[in-house]
Amino acid sequence: MAMVRVRFAPSPTGQPHIGWARTALFNWLFARRHGGTFVLRIEDTDQKRAVAGAREVFDAAFQWLGFTYDEGPGRDGGYGPYLQSQRIESHRRVAGELLDQGRAYPCFCTPEEIEARRAEDRRLGRPPRYPGTCRQLSQEERRRRMAGGEPYVIRLLAPEEGSIVVHDLVRGDVSFDLALLDDFVLMKADGTPTYNFASVVDDAEMAITHVLRADEHLANTPKQLILYQAMGRTAPAFAHVPMILAPDRAKLSKRHGATPLAEFMAQGYLPEAVVNYLMLLGWNPGGDREFLTLTEGAQLFSLDRVQKNPAVYDTQKMTWINAHYLRQLGEEELWQRAQPFLTARDLVPDQPSADQAAYAKAVLSLMQSRASTLVELAEAAAVLLTEPEEFDAQGVHRHFESPGAAGRLTALADRLQGATFDAAGLEAAITELAGEMGVARAELIHPARLAVSGRTVGPGLFEMLSVLGRERTVARLRQAAARASS
Ligand code: GLU
Repeated sequence: MAMVRVRFAPSPTGQPHIGWARTALFNWLFARRHGGTFVLRIEDTDQKRAVAGAREVFDAAFQWLGFTYDEGPGRDGGYGPYLQSQRIESHRRVAGELLDQGRAYPCFCTPEEIEARRAEDRRLGRPPRYPGTCRQLSQEERRRRMAGGEPYVIRLLAPEEGSIVVHDLVRGDVSFDLALLDDFVLMKADGTPTYNFASVVDDAEMAITHVLRADEHLANTPKQLILYQAMGRTAPAFAHVPMILAPDRAKLSKRHGATPLAEFMAQGYLPEAVVNYLMLLGWNPGGDREFLTLTEGAQLFSLDRVQKNPAVYDTQKMTWINAHYLRQLGEEELWQRAQPFLTARDLVPDQPSADQAAYAKAVLSLMQSRASTLVELAEAAAVLLTEPEEFDAQGVHRHFESPGAAGRLTALADRLQGATFDAAGLEAAITELAGEMGVARAELIHPARLAVSGRTVGPGLFEMLSVLGRERTVARLRQAAARASS
């Protein structure tokens, strides 16, 4: 295989989302697998829809995801510029060459004429098709009208019959009837290129060997192949990756996969989990393997394991994978990742003291296995990082309002004042006290959990109290005693 060069060519029309990241990722994996180059080209010729600062937005998304382009804006590999809007001179030059060679022609039909024709096609239930009106004009008339300043678009002189086969590396051979294609527009009246034309000129000039892109572009591929033929250039190989469907198999919507990556970030998903999940969205590494890193994916990636059928986006699975990665994090790493979420909720200060950090780390580790995302983890940690303000109502009824509850909580506070504050020491102290009082251990354990956390469920009490420490534990038990029934 020649030196592999793939490109990811997003239009800067919105925030990077799951579909965006999956296409970028597959390109990156393919490039890595074949020792090739992954190029980013920003397709911003449609200035009306282009979003300012797209490059920064894309760079931030790549940075979060943990992989990035080898060549692109600001990373010149000799094939720039990498903003399509800066390549318009090339598009105009190639369009001029095609005009000179008679492979393209100027079309002077007005938008109104074109629209009237489309309406007629629609009325008759025919696919809309340019009828070739301006094909017939003589070279002389063309020159005269162009020189006279009449607005025109440039159309490709497309073959009128026969078929063309796309040898897609994922879909296999897909044949298209050329009679269904018309003389499509290459350059618009305002002198800017259409997507199909710009994309082909740029891919050719950037020496792209493989085009990996979303399935929705398969229908553009016959047009692009005809263009390569007209330009006398060899077409790259094409691979159309399956589209992503929402869990209900509807088209991806904002509610599901089109959710911006920023939102996954905000919800406390870990990038390595998101990337792992995206790798499985339309590709499988073989066997029933579910967990793999970017590096492992780059070693294993192959197009023959990319599925043809749509990939169904499954929030639950993504959350499950996230929980797996969350559990793998060591204490320090967990703290680094969770701290912004704790700070955002005012649970730890921006610049925590060593003691505050140590306590937060212990709380995070205690709650680690009880959360699927960093947001859930912060939520769980809040229970111990702040004094409980709200208490579970049913719990209060059962554990604080039963006769003698205050006495039991006070006795427990007194006993724990002198206990050894580790799980074993606490268990021994509570077991001993329960024996002396002639009550079941549960009659101390449940009220104690409610007193220190406000909740009736949570991590094991002894572990929880050892993390809380003597001072907080005793204070919270006494506060609870003060409100409990005597
Ligand atoms: N700018 C196009 C898009 O964002 C690129 C399609 C392609 O990869 O050719 O859909």
